[in-house]
Amino acid sequence: MNEHDSARLKDLLLEKGYVFCDRLEHADVAIFNTCSVRKHAEDRVYGKIGELQKLKAKKPGLIIGIIGCMAEARKDEIIRRFPIVDFLCGPADLDKVPDIIDKIRLGAGHIMYLEGYKSKIIPAFSKNRKTGKTAYVKIMEGCDNFCSYCIVPYVRGRERSRPSRDILDEIKKLIDKGVKEITLLGQNVNSYGKGLKEKINFVALLTKIDKLVHLPGEPIGSPGRWTGCVKINFLTSHPKDASLSLFKTMRDLESVSKNLHLPIQSGSDKILNKMNRKYTVARYKKLVDDFRKIVKNGNVSSDIIVGFPGETEKDFKDTLNVVRELRFGAAYIFKYSPRPITKAAKFKDDVSLGEKEKRHALLLKLQRDISSSKRCQ
Ligand code: SF4
Repeated sequence: MNEHDSARLKDLLLEKGYVFCDRLEHADVAIFNTCSVRKHAEDRVYGKIGELQKLKAKKPGLIIGIIGCMAEARKDEIIRRFPIVDFLCGPADLDKVPDIIDKIRLGAGHIMYLEGYKSKIIPAFSKNRKTGKTAYVKIMEGCDNFCSYCIVPYVRGRERSRPSRDILDEIKKLIDKGVKEITLLGQNVNSYGKGLKEKINFVALLTKIDKLVHLPGEPIGSPGRWTGCVKINFLTSHPKDASLSLFKTMRDLESVSKNLHLPIQSGSDKILNKMNRKYTVARYKKLVDDFRKIVKNGNVSSDIIVGFPGETEKDFKDTLNVVRELRFGAAYIFKYSPRPITKAAKFKDDVSLGEKEKRHALLLKLQRDISSSKRCQ
């Protein structure tokens, strides 16, 4: 999502006549697009802003902006610690950044533009978008799930979907530019459609897109043959919204990727409950089983957090066992770090860093062994 946002802002700035330079010393404007999902990402941004203090002292006209989730989640800390920062702008308002820069250049002083996610519109990509063979298309943004560890609903706001007409229009333009692979983006793509006036869900959206991306005159879904001119991926799905009808659609629509990224997060029901994930391990296993039965050549990948508050040796062993049993094609494994504002930040962070690192290494090794043995099959 952040990559998509950065690309979008870059195009908006290019349209305004800005050029991009390789060396920070040559820049008149420096912008950091930030992520708050993990503490490590935030620490790196603080380090980078700190490094700019000397440059700003030498070049007082340098405009420094922080955009993205940290601008929302860490605004007070950034303002207090880094007076060199000229503007903050949350992730839902990136299209305002060129105007913010103009205003600062005209002498407006510091500008803090935040909490715009309360507006419900997801703007389209700029019409002069630069593309290669692959592109992201945002279909929805924000999240209503409030997993207890996650800051996304607080920084990207509540769930809102883009009308299908806008999405299809953007995809058509990308195809005209020669894009061959599109990834549909959203925090929770499979709950797409909530709150829209049109009656549509994610399965219906995929079906509409599939019709659009096939070459004219080619039969749709002829067996064993790739007829689509564009491949469609999607990220990320929540297990509570995954359904048999989604799996059947993935099986039947030739343009749609057979890769399902379905974060499990933990193999312990106790921890899943504390995480507010709204499913059990048994329900998750059933979903994977159904998916594999329906999408024969399908691949499942996952996300897992280790060291969540209250995670005992037994809970962690349960996670190891689930990973051993389900044999994901890939899994992204993270050490828990408390995020401000979230419910879990109030829980006692009682798994030591050393223990988190040990669990992380064990799980990583297990997953690497599984991934490499699958590659050899
Ligand atoms: S589903 Fe949970 S983890 Fe994913 S964005 Fe929403 S709150 Fe965060």
